[in-house]
Amino acid sequence: MNHTALLNRIRTDLEAKGNSVFMENQNSFALKGHAATLGGKPDLITVSGKNGTIYDAKTGKPSPSHHVQVMVYMYAVPRVLSQYKGVTFDGKLIYTDHEVNIPSTAVDQPFIENLGELIRRVADKTPARKVPSPMECGFCNIAKSECPERMAGEVMQQGETEDF
Ligand code: SF4
Repeated sequence: MNHTALLNRIRTDLEAKGNSVFMENQNSFALKGHAATLGGKPDLITVSGKNGTIYDAKTGKPSPSHHVQVMVYMYAVPRVLSQYKGVTFDGKLIYTDHEVNIPSTAVDQPFIENLGELIRRVADKTPARKVPSPMECGFCNIAKSECPERMAGEVMQQGETEDF
């Protein structure tokens, strides 16, 4: 509900400034590669000529993964959605109390190569090597029944269990 309210506020602000806004399912994509299919659904997209902005609304605490999520959208959207072919996208993360701009130049060749490498690793039939530590396992939501190497995390929240 909070996310929907934030999205509606952003859309209203953008439309008031004269932007055409495309929302959620209008922006849904699936980019097929050799190893896997990369899919997503950016919250909001605006385009003016050959420049566009991809917006993602977040109601939780800021996280570096939010940046990467928007950068993945900036990479994939012009490659897979024909209506955005040739458009260069900036990104914008909108939190309830602040905004973060991500310039189009952030999606550079090293980012694209790292993304490809990550997708190949995730899609590989051989599971990634486990490197258990109290810190990593404390943030991981994979159950001990699925990961016998799991270590008790020091950062688990009160009321959580290491069993799942
Ligand atoms: S629980 Fe298992 S998969 Fe998760 S971080 Fe720990 S070792 Fe890695």
